[in-house]
Amino acid sequence: MKRLLLTYLGCIAVAFSLPVLIGIGPVPEKTAEEQSILPKEINVYFHKEQAVRTIGFEEYIKGVLPAEMPALFEGEALKAQAVAARTFTYHKCIESAKNPSSEHPDAAVCTNSLHCSAYYSHDELLQMHGQEWMDEHYEKMRSYVDATKGEILTYDNEPILAVFHSASAGGYTQSSGDVWGKNLPYLVSVESKGEEQKSNFISTAMVSSDEFKSIIQSQFKDAVFGPDISKWIGEAKRTNSGNVLFIEIGGIAIKGTQIRSMFSLKSTHFDIAIDNDNIIFTVAGNGHGVGMSQYGANYMAKNGADYKEILKNYYKGSSLMKYP
Ligand SMILES: [Zn+2]
Repeated sequence: MKRLLLTYLGCIAVAFSLPVLIGIGPVPEKTAEEQSILPKEINVYFHKEQAVRTIGFEEYIKGVLPAEMPALFEGEALKAQAVAARTFTYHKCIESAKNPSSEHPDAAVCTNSLHCSAYYSHDELLQMHGQEWMDEHYEKMRSYVDATKGEILTYDNEPILAVFHSASAGGYTQSSGDVWGKNLPYLVSVESKGEEQKSNFISTAMVSSDEFKSIIQSQFKDAVFGPDISKWIGEAKRTNSGNVLFIEIGGIAIKGTQIRSMFSLKSTHFDIAIDNDNIIFTVAGNGHGVGMSQYGANYMAKNGADYKEILKNYYKGSSLMKYP
């Protein structure tokens, strides 16, 4: 109970007021009482220090933005990222009040980017980038958070799971159903261009055939690997962007997401080649591919889209609400 209360307190708001629709999608039908409100503060679990600290909600978003998106990105892409990060965080607040995270039961979010969102304080950013970078970028990034203050993406009047990733591949994002087995109406596959501008957009990974075999068999004991390596890898079933849904390895259909995880690949958009006694993965893009592509957002911004248009593209059918 104490933990639940603490988590709830970490995300509690100060005043009830009706959110205002400012951008996209249908007008909400819920009453003021039914609407949720943004918390004033949030409990954050700092995973390196293993400590929980309470931070102002908007102040927290100001530390997430420079940790999650390159400072050199376009202003409208950074604003879109600020809204996505705020929405993702608010969604975490609501979820953690119902089901506290087993990793950090006393905090709604943690600073581990692989679990929640990356976050850097002013001092950490100064240490990492130096004063010149701070002068040039820090205040500007904070201003993008201020420019979208209180803005949240909703679907059916609920804050959405506003996931994002670095770069899609093959011209489309992935649906949440294809990647996590759970279809969400606003996380469908949508067109996404311009990701190739990311450095290291194409990456490779190589393992010996023995390693490959033992990694696969550690999770798929029935996989059969005969003496002819060329027959180990069969057909792949792919999404419209070319990401692997399933691939037949050792006679077993294995999910692309499982292969990605087992071999630490940057995405599920991969091809497999055999070179002598080695297996080589050639991978395009970076991340799970669901929701907003950061490089795709930057490409849209470069081509004149504002942050509302970017969010509307990547979170289909969502509404942008402002909580005063
Ligand atoms: Zn976490």
